[in-house]
Amino acid sequence: MGLIDYEKQYDVIVAGAGHAGCEAALAAARMGCETLLLTINLDAIALMSCNPAIGGLAKGHLVKEIDALGGEMGKNIDATGIQYRILNTRKGPAVRASRAQADKQLYRLRMKHVMEQQERLSLKQGEVTGLVVEEGQVRGVVTKIGVRFLGKTVILTTGTFMRGLIHVGLTNYPGGRAGDLPSVGLSDQLRDLGFTVGRLKTGTPARLDGNTIDFSRLEPQYGDDPPVPFSFSTERIDRPQLPCYIAYTNERTHEIIRSGLDRSPLYSGVIEGVGPRYCPSIEDKVMRFPDKDRHQSFLEPEGCDTVEYYPSGLSTSLPIDIQYRLYRSIEGLENVEIMRPAYAIEYDYVDPIQLHASLETKLVRNLYHAGQINGTSGYEEAAGQGLVAGINAVLRVRGQEPLVLGRDEAYIGVMIDDLVTLGTREPYRMFTSRAEYRLLLREDNADLRLRERGHAVGLVRDGEYRLFLEKRERIGAELERVRAAKLLPSEADPSFLETHGMTDLHNALTFEQLLRRPDITYAELSRIDPASDLVPPAVKEQVEIQIKYQGYIERQLDQVERARKLEGTRIPAGLDYAVIPGLSAEVREKLLRFRPDTLGQASRIQGVTPAAVAILSVAIKSGS
Ligand code: FAD
Repeated sequence: MGLIDYEKQYDVIVAGAGHAGCEAALAAARMGCETLLLTINLDAIALMSCNPAIGGLAKGHLVKEIDALGGEMGKNIDATGIQYRILNTRKGPAVRASRAQADKQLYRLRMKHVMEQQERLSLKQGEVTGLVVEEGQVRGVVTKIGVRFLGKTVILTTGTFMRGLIHVGLTNYPGGRAGDLPSVGLSDQLRDLGFTVGRLKTGTPARLDGNTIDFSRLEPQYGDDPPVPFSFSTERIDRPQLPCYIAYTNERTHEIIRSGLDRSPLYSGVIEGVGPRYCPSIEDKVMRFPDKDRHQSFLEPEGCDTVEYYPSGLSTSLPIDIQYRLYRSIEGLENVEIMRPAYAIEYDYVDPIQLHASLETKLVRNLYHAGQINGTSGYEEAAGQGLVAGINAVLRVRGQEPLVLGRDEAYIGVMIDDLVTLGTREPYRMFTSRAEYRLLLREDNADLRLRERGHAVGLVRDGEYRLFLEKRERIGAELERVRAAKLLPSEADPSFLETHGMTDLHNALTFEQLLRRPDITYAELSRIDPASDLVPPAVKEQVEIQIKYQGYIERQLDQVERARKLEGTRIPAGLDYAVIPGLSAEVREKLLRFRPDTLGQASRIQGVTPAAVAILSVAIKSGS
């Protein structure tokens, strides 16, 4: 077939307009590059394939980081959110996380609108079926209808679409997501280029008709009042807020599920892909935890102008007759109608150990992979990678060094480092436990960690940056103030001293010393310190956390300092592991397979011992 060359050439071409593709394309265009975003269906830009929500444990951290770096996800959810909650408020600040329900259709429409208005960004409907690769370097893409688009860099963000296969019971058919075409051909070419292509699986619950749910029998769950925005640039949320409802499975539900297992694609071996261990289907939960007599589900509204409800935790690939029976066995859902059946999907992904930390592939220069194509699961994980890939494609076009976020700087850095140094054989999702410097990587300080970086690459606008600088200065000034201000025993309010067991106080205490005590917060301090009422809440939050957790924070900073030496030592690309004496055959094999870029990455590969890292370090210094 003769190809038609498109008249214009681009700096950056992004294939796929999911959560990764949107961030990648916006970042590239905002940083000044002529950018093309090609996607199978323009009406499905930033569509939420599964739950209508952004954030959650560790995922909220990712969204705050994306926002701090100048990405769009936080702003988009703030413009379209219908319920906000901060999770883990009773736990320490490291694991507190934000979550918001989205009006799903508004979320996608608002993202499409933002992209349509973005200068230097062209949106086109088209399926990328091939890459143009010459001499190990990508030159552009080819679409299904035979158009060749040339570009300096290409970012693939194909999500669950490459050879997507949808399963409902023992029936299956090709699709990228229910209602969407799959992407065909691309993964075959990637395999031919030398990439290791694997198969993963995920699933989603049915969407239920709210007109047929008896809400009077369910417990409502309301969001926080007032809702706390995601984005550091949003002042407040004005949109109407909606409740979710709590429902439970029961023994009868579990019996129905067991009765349908002979027609389950999962249990009959039809599905080959590996599923998400941490987000199992309801049949998985029932089989894995036979002693549990019920499982909780939140019925989440999909928007203000729709009756569709998403029953969280009830994803399944059982046949449709079993689906009806299982949902209808739940109290409140006795007469429920299914609007969209639940299903599982298998898709191709590419082993992320074949990527540099910039997300550029090691096999094809100027080609980047981001999102679910790298084996991750989740909108936030995808968006974080998309943003980094977009930034790095631009830096490559400009001939500059890539942006690589450290494990001590960002959850995005932890995620990418995990992916490119360890690879993944199952859907990877973010957890706070994956970060070794959890206390440094909090949601609340994402702007202090990353605003500077976002501004330096040109994504954080000057106005936003100025606000950030003001906040940082105010934090510094407030720290100085509480270190200098003192509670004098002679002038102290006796009731304050009594509340805090300090009636025998003889020496003056600084306000910093007071704030260090677990029983004294800013709210309490204001009893003796009226000046603190004038300090903005975000500044108080930082000062209080920095003071209360100072010891732990300093300890983690020490660990970071020690690890930095390894992280900073680059392993030359052509280093010949075969001639380095002292490395075991196993370590050699691992290093050849993973091809780490730095000593830090090498040290995190399972089986690469500290002794092997020391040998490598010597070899690098002596220029082997
Ligand atoms: P996607 O959001 O999948 O977007 C990919 C985009 O690329 C689409 O717009 C598509 O049209 C386009 N595209 C694909 N191939 C091409 C091509 N060749 N040319 C042009 N355009 C192309 N995540 C969770 O965290 N928890 C869950 O429980 C969960 N369940 C899920 C259940 C299902 C059934 C599905 C489909 C997904 C589920 N996910 C879940 C995953 C979540 O939807 C993804 O992680 C996230 O959307 C990935 O973002 P992405 O940008 O990588 O890809």
